[in-house]
Amino acid sequence: MTGHGSIVLIEQNCTSCMICARECPSWCITIDSHTETVVDQPAGARARTENVLDRFAIDWSLCMFCGICVDECPFDALEWATPQALPARTLTALTHEIPDLSAH
Ligand code: SF4
Ligand code: SF4
Repeated sequence: MTGHGSIVLIEQNCTSCMICARECPSWCITIDSHTETVVDQPAGARARTENVLDRFAIDWSLCMFCGICVDECPFDALEWATPQALPARTLTALTHEIPDLSAH
């Protein structure tokens, strides 16, 4: 069974929908994204855009490990992982960005 030590972001599943950030009771998830036009559309198809994730960060100094973000993500882009987010000397170091959240 996977422990609830930290949270992993599966970046390719994330649509930048912001649901996790809105539902997080601690406001410890930060998401930045931009919109790009989808290329390779069939001829005559209506132009489409998609969100592209620029930043996803969790501030472990605020996280309560409640799991609401994992439960609410409709795209299975967040998972529990066993290793704990390690203590750090500064608040900045306790904010983990995409490479940190993908590395477990
Ligand atoms: S586990 Fe809870 S407090 Fe931590 S990031 Fe997810 S929703 Fe926020
Ligand atoms: S709810 Fe899931 S898909 Fe939406 S921004 Fe959060 S991690 Fe990404």
